[in-house]
Amino acid sequence: MADLKPYEIARETVKQLTVRKLLPTPDNYQRIYHEIAGTKRLQPFPEAQLQEIANLLPTKTPGQQRLHAQFESAVRNHNWTGLQTALVNFSQAQPVQRIAADGIAPVGHHAALAIETSNTPAAEPLPPALKEQIARLIEHAQPAVGLDDSKMGEQTASLTAYLRKEVSDPAMLKQMIADFNHRLSFTAEEQGAIKSALLELLQMVFKNIGELSVDDRWLKGQMDGLMAAATPPITLRHLEDIRAKLKDVIFKQSEAKSQTVAAQEAIKRELAGFIERLTAMSASTSEFGGKIEQSAKRLETAQRIEDIAPVLQEAIAAARTMTVDTQRASDELKSMREKAQQAEEQVQRLQNELDKASAQARHDPLTGVLNRKGLDEAIEREISSAKRKGTQLCLSLLDIDNFKKLNDSYGHDVGDVALKHLTKITRDCIRPQDTLARYGGEEFIVVLPDASLEQAIEAMTRVQRELTKHFFLAGKDKVLITFSAGVAALGPEESAELAVSRADQAMYLAKRSGKNRVVGA
Ligand code: GH3
Ligand code: MG
Ligand code: MG
Repeated sequence: MADLKPYEIARETVKQLTVRKLLPTPDNYQRIYHEIAGTKRLQPFPEAQLQEIANLLPTKTPGQQRLHAQFESAVRNHNWTGLQTALVNFSQAQPVQRIAADGIAPVGHHAALAIETSNTPAAEPLPPALKEQIARLIEHAQPAVGLDDSKMGEQTASLTAYLRKEVSDPAMLKQMIADFNHRLSFTAEEQGAIKSALLELLQMVFKNIGELSVDDRWLKGQMDGLMAAATPPITLRHLEDIRAKLKDVIFKQSEAKSQTVAAQEAIKRELAGFIERLTAMSASTSEFGGKIEQSAKRLETAQRIEDIAPVLQEAIAAARTMTVDTQRASDELKSMREKAQQAEEQVQRLQNELDKASAQARHDPLTGVLNRKGLDEAIEREISSAKRKGTQLCLSLLDIDNFKKLNDSYGHDVGDVALKHLTKITRDCIRPQDTLARYGGEEFIVVLPDASLEQAIEAMTRVQRELTKHFFLAGKDKVLITFSAGVAALGPEESAELAVSRADQAMYLAKRSGKNRVVGA
């Protein structure tokens, strides 16, 4: 029978159905057909049953929907391999463990197939012991973040207090921790920046001291050691090392200074000796002149040749003394000139070093506040920080009122005292994060980060009030000074120069409207 053609098998099958009195159902037909053909009978594809299973599969998440579609397509196409793949993928997909609605997704190989468990229960409150540990963690980390940011301090206090409440709302707690995290990220970043700026400052100081001491190899070696010690990572041990080395350097510097003073004294003494010798020389020159004159007179009156010989002898002796004195004076003069030249070269070199050092300086030597260079750098830093944090930055320009009159009445020195007085009062009155700089003559700039225009005006008015409460003494006179100020809030894309010039115009308005005022730009 194996050699029968398909149509012959079909004909024989129909015949057998009749012979065996079987109903002509597809199942009976198939069974007889395979029997005649001698082939294996295929099991029918259970499409209906599999579709029923498909209807029961979950389709809540995109991952589940994708797998469901894969399963249904395999059912439609009677594709056993496709069915197998879809079922294996379903079994491997892990349900998402929802942790207090924090949105943390599972990681790893099966993450892409993650299936969220349906009807996620509401976030469970944290166990009190865990909340206490979180509160302590925050408190212990606070010194590392610094205590300068008052808002951060407030947030820390309220968050730890909330964590220690017996009953707390998980959603509220989540929001508070998120806010805290947000602020912490800025503050920590800022602390890092402050640390590197301090280190940079330290290295700059070391470099400048090193350059001022060009001739001293010992000192130079120490400075190099200090520079190396002040290179990150900084540890307490490193700092101790720096402290000890710096102490040595300071001692050596003071020793070098006293040596310089001694050298100056020696030069002074030599000069005094030389002047003495010059005086003696001019005395011996006039003595020589007198002797020659005497000899000339005796020569005139000499009658005999024997009288001339002693006169000549005396003249030659006088000339010889004169020559020796002159030679000695000339030698001394030469050596003095060489020494003076060396000293001049030394002074010139030190002057160059000093010039270099002062060009790198960021502070005004009279008042100790930042100078223009320091101000420019500070403003640049504050502008980028304000942009990063999305906060408002303000600049105020202040100019002392009637300062010329004060100088004229009490003298320039008292004017200088007034400038120092103003900077002290202002510094004490503004916030630690505000920057005070000398803009020029009797004009200063205050940089106020994280402040609205109104707050900045209020801050400058406070300084003004404080200044009118504190006088300083010029001899016996009590002197009060006032200033006029303009305040500008930096626009989103505004340059520092433009903001300063707006503050300057506002300051001018304050002068025009009677001085001792603060005007917003
Ligand atoms: P106004 O109220 O309009 O500002 O008048 P003013 O007299 O303060 O202004 P003016 O610009 O006419 O004078 C400023 C004076 O400040 C002139 C200058 O001699 C003096 N000055 C600038 N720098 C210094 C300094 O370092 N020390 C002292 N003592 N005086 C200074
Ligand atoms: Mg002025
Ligand atoms: Mg002035």
